[in-house]
Parts: sequence; structure tokens; C-alpha cells
Amino acid sequence: MIPPARRRAERSAIGTRSAKSVGMHPVLSRILELIFPARCAACELLGAEPFCAQCAESLVAAPAGCTVCGAPLDEALLPATRPRRCGACRDRAPPFVLARAPFLHGGALAEAIHAFKYEKREELARPLGVLFEAVERPRAEVLSPVPLHPRRQIQRGYDQAALLAREAGRRFSLPVEHLVERGRPTAPQVGRDRLARARNVQGAFRARGNIRGRSVCLIDDVLTTGATAGEAARALYAAGARRVEVRTLSRAP
Ligand SMILES: [Zn+2]
Ligand SMILES: [Zn+2]
Repeated sequence: MIPPARRRAERSAIGTRSAKSVGMHPVLSRILELIFPARCAACELLGAEPFCAQCAESLVAAPAGCTVCGAPLDEALLPATRPRRCGACRDRAPPFVLARAPFLHGGALAEAIHAFKYEKREELARPLGVLFEAVERPRAEVLSPVPLHPRRQIQRGYDQAALLAREAGRRFSLPVEHLVERGRPTAPQVGRDRLARARNVQGAFRARGNIRGRSVCLIDDVLTTGATAGEAARALYAAGARRVEVRTLSRAP
């Protein structure tokens, strides 16, 4: 009996070599679908990807919020009187031009992202990556993941942003290059306020490779205050990037 995690890993390995990439016979690909069926990324219910109907109901599309960071704005105000930027972006504009996510963080999506990051569910990259179809295409010539520190990547076994960037690259038909690296490890951002988050990641990134004059879109799983993506963007601009945008699967409500 193969343990479920192992089975999922094998399914995902087969998924990446799927029918179109190796010209697999349709019957064979149908057989593989029966052996390794689609599952909901949150509750693992069979037959639905990325989410089953019930889990999909918990997904909340990100409203048209702050024009810079996408933070939801006060819905009680009439659209004409609503500010175009959130308070944080008015106080201090983030280094990136804009950040967008298709959904607010919460419900089944938060569960799936948590499993993807902390429960070695590497194979969730593909179904989660489908969600990038629901967000506006970046104005960029190349995608780059917001990287993990190498030590954390070794602990986890994979870099979730790199896997997501690959999936986003397929969806947006854009190449992926690793243009940012961590200069130093940082403590987790969870549980810190905006200022502490900004301090925690300050100067944590270095740009690498050919960046001068290029437009880059950073890819990560979740945008909270934007501090991490902001620092990565700062490193890209310091190396001569022309424009930096950000796309994540979800953003904090
Ligand atoms: Zn489900
Ligand atoms: Zn904002």
C-alpha cells in the first residue's frame, strides 16, 4: 500500500509529464486520470480541481481595492468618494508599481496554501497555479519568484514561490528567471505588525542576473502587508529594473 502523500507525489510527477508535453496517447492519459484522479486542493474530495464546489464557495474574489497594493477599501463609501489608494500606500508608496491577487486570503484557499507551504504538499502547485488565470496578466517581460532562504528551502524540500512562478509562467505565457535571492535568512513574518514586518525583511534580498531596463513581475503565494515583495522589488530596482509588479494567489483581507 502506497501512503497517500507518496501517491500524490507520483500523481504530480506524472501530471507534469502530461499528455501534451510528451504527446501521450489520449487513452493512456484517460487511464492515468482514473488512477490519479483530480482532487480538491483543500479537502481532497475526488473529481474536482482546483477546488470542489463546497470549498470553492469559500473563495472570495479580491474586490477592486487600492490601485497600488490591492488592499480592500471601505465598501461603505460610494465609489466616487472612495480613495484610490489605501492609507498605507498613501503614507508610504511601496516600491512595486502594483500588486494583484485573484482572491482574498481565507477559507479553503488559505487551507490549501498552508498545506502547500507547511505540509510538504508540493503537488498542490499545479492546481493552485490555475488560480492565476483569475488575475490580470502582468505588464512584464519576465516572472521571478520571491525566494526562500536556501536553508529553509532545504528544510522544506522545495521553494513554493518557484513552483508557483512556473505555473504562473504557463498561464501568462511568460518566461521565469530567478532574479532575486535572499542575502540573509529572516524570521517568519507571521504575527508581526506592519512596521516589524518591514524591519524584518529590510535588505534581505539581492538581485542577480541581467535586470537592467527589464520589467519584472514577482510571484509569491500570499501578500499580507507587501513588505517582503516590496523588499524584493527594491532589490530589483536597485539593479536597474524598469518596472516591477507583483502577483500572488491571495492577499490578506
Ligand atoms: Zn474541497
Ligand atoms: Zn495600498
